[in-house]
Amino acid sequence: MSDTAIATQALGRVYASDSGAVHALQDVSFEVERGQFVLLRGRSGSGKTTLLNCLGGLDDPTSGKVWIHDQDLAQLDEAARTRWRRGSIGFVFQQMGLLPSFSAYENLDVMARLAGVPRSDRRERILACLELVGLLDYYDHRPYEMSGGQQQRIAIARALVAQPQLILADEPTSELDSETTHDILAALGDFVRQAGITIFLSSHDPIADDYADRVINLRDGRIHPSA
Ligand code: ADP
Ligand code: MG
Repeated sequence: MSDTAIATQALGRVYASDSGAVHALQDVSFEVERGQFVLLRGRSGSGKTTLLNCLGGLDDPTSGKVWIHDQDLAQLDEAARTRWRRGSIGFVFQQMGLLPSFSAYENLDVMARLAGVPRSDRRERILACLELVGLLDYYDHRPYEMSGGQQQRIAIARALVAQPQLILADEPTSELDSETTHDILAALGDFVRQAGITIFLSSHDPIADDYADRVINLRDGRIHPSA
């Protein structure tokens, strides 16, 4: 097993639109070592979501390559990719996508089952993840019975339940107040260090700088040296 969590080589993604081609990513090459907390910074429209989708195998680059833990994503067909994703990657999106009629516990349980967490481990694992984000007492609450910050913490707990080696988080704190943002980033940072996993998180919030081991700047779809 190599120490490289993520590698991209000359990644490009072009979208066709009515007004012509949109180069959402151009010549994006970088490597991330395992165990790092990487912040992907860039303005709205700079290509952050496109990059995260390509890293998670949710979108296909139009050129270049992506390896996650040495797996070349282009080598996986759709079914293999879905299996791979469930076992290897935890996603946290800006729209957290919690199932509204399910409790916090049940939301995590759905993910644990999809990821094939053994039945004998599920309960303990789910409770541990809820505790990690400080919401053990909310296990039977539904999303609408929680604040936005609490819902986002449940979404993070859900991303952790399969014990992925890599977490991809797309602006997970953009809807939250600064205190909650600090809490969530600190919880993620602790988790990265405890579990030795890698997190790749996009944000345009300067608060995130304090928690990252490394910053990658995107500007107009290209990696840009730090200011
Ligand atoms: P960010 O997440 O940093 O805001 P995005 O990756 O969403 O940036 O978008 C990068 C660029 O690609 C933008 O110019 C956006 O308008 C364009 N884009 C994103 N998705 C699509 C799409 N499905 N079709 C056409 N253009 C898109
Ligand atoms: Mg985005």
